Amino acid sequence: MDDQHTDGNAMAGLLAEVLAVDATSIVRRCHSCGAERPMADHRAYHGAGAVLRCPECEDVAVRVVTVGASLVVEPRGTFTVARAS
Ligand SMILES: [Zn+2]
Repeated sequence: MDDQHTDGNAMAGLLAEVLAVDATSIVRRCHSCGAERPMADHRAYHGAGAVLRCPECEDVAVRVVTVGASLVVEPRGTFTVARAS
């Protein structure tokens, strides 16, 4: 650590807030076409892993793969989480 940054523990509360929401309500901005849609509007495909695709351009939005006892998540795009009021 130095004057410019701290370690990731400084964001623990903020990350907990982000990860505590219903993921289907998160609005994703597609990195390919710019569409902004809730995750619930995306198309789910199941095979070797699970993939959500953009409902507008069908580009990959999120990949989730089970590896042993873990889930590996690869998000693509920008995700907006509404804060509880
Ligand atoms: Zn798209």
